[in-house]
Amino acid sequence: DDISDEILSSYDIDILSMPDEKPRTNKEMKVKVGIKVSSEDHGTPLERFRPGYLWVSDLTKQNWCEQQLYYSFTMSGIIEVNPVVQKVMTEGSNLHLARELAVHDTVPVKVTSNEDIWAIKVINLLNAVQGFLNGVTLAREIPIFGAPFQQDVFFVGLIDELRFDPESYNIDLLELKTKAFKSPPSKAQKSQHRLQVLLYKKLFDDLVKGNLSKTTVAKHLRLDLKRDFGEAVSLELTKHLVEFKNLDGLLDHLFQRMQCLTCVSQLHIEYVHQESKQTLYHHTEDYDDDDLSNIFEDYLKFWRGQRPVAGVDIEEAWKCQKCDFAHICEWRSKKSEEYSSKNKDKMK
Ligand code: SF4
Repeated sequence: DDISDEILSSYDIDILSMPDEKPRTNKEMKVKVGIKVSSEDHGTPLERFRPGYLWVSDLTKQNWCEQQLYYSFTMSGIIEVNPVVQKVMTEGSNLHLARELAVHDTVPVKVTSNEDIWAIKVINLLNAVQGFLNGVTLAREIPIFGAPFQQDVFFVGLIDELRFDPESYNIDLLELKTKAFKSPPSKAQKSQHRLQVLLYKKLFDDLVKGNLSKTTVAKHLRLDLKRDFGEAVSLELTKHLVEFKNLDGLLDHLFQRMQCLTCVSQLHIEYVHQESKQTLYHHTEDYDDDDLSNIFEDYLKFWRGQRPVAGVDIEEAWKCQKCDFAHICEWRSKKSEEYSSKNKDKMK
């Protein structure tokens, strides 16, 4: 059931397939009354849905279907996640967690402000970087952030894995995808995953090249760089042998350490079978800055409200077949009207 397998990509980019013996034909839909129609709201999608920053996964979902992404913000009340999908997503998360815990432990730290929250992300990134500089070769679940291509839009993501070679200083980036079934990833899925690793590399390399400033971070994340960290975060910092009172010093330290590394050399995507934990497929992707820049520019036009939202092309209409928003999708009905009138013209 290729469509079922594909459709999971629209729920979670890490989950690629679902049991094909259970097609999603009898799913129940919940319709809530009084949902605001999106066009009545004001502001750009960026201002309305993601004030401050975008997640890398926002762009990969947009790559699947921008219209679906839009409905997920404005009409999420009408859908209910299928239990089969939920189970596959949970299995995927568990596999990611198991891999993470195989290379480090996690400890809870009490946070008292936004500045504390971002300090923890910086500490986690710094731990990976400092580990490499001390000869560690593997890091997992590494926070990454930045404002690529001077577009004044901030991004945050989580890199699954970085592998460091202490001899050559090469760094490889790996994205893990889990699959409930053993079918190979489709073209549409590969396109999403390619975009994801390209963007991660761009964010990481920008830090290595010193292309991110503290003021950019503070502006987008609305942080006070001079605000003192809470007690628990300060204590955590001392455990990592760095003592900074606030983000001002901590970010300087991060940027300085990042610039001791090299840019990401190779991009890998690994597809792992959920049940057997075996690697099913392994792809490498070539980085193409121009291609990423063009995709980025086009996608940001949507976020800035500079063009209308777009759904899938006719060649990818199969995505609509089991989309949760198909029954309300304006793009789909517009395209199907255009298609029927074209066919009528041909018949004349
Ligand atoms: Fe996108 Fe098709 Fe779903 Fe509309 S029905 S949101 S075009 S996948």
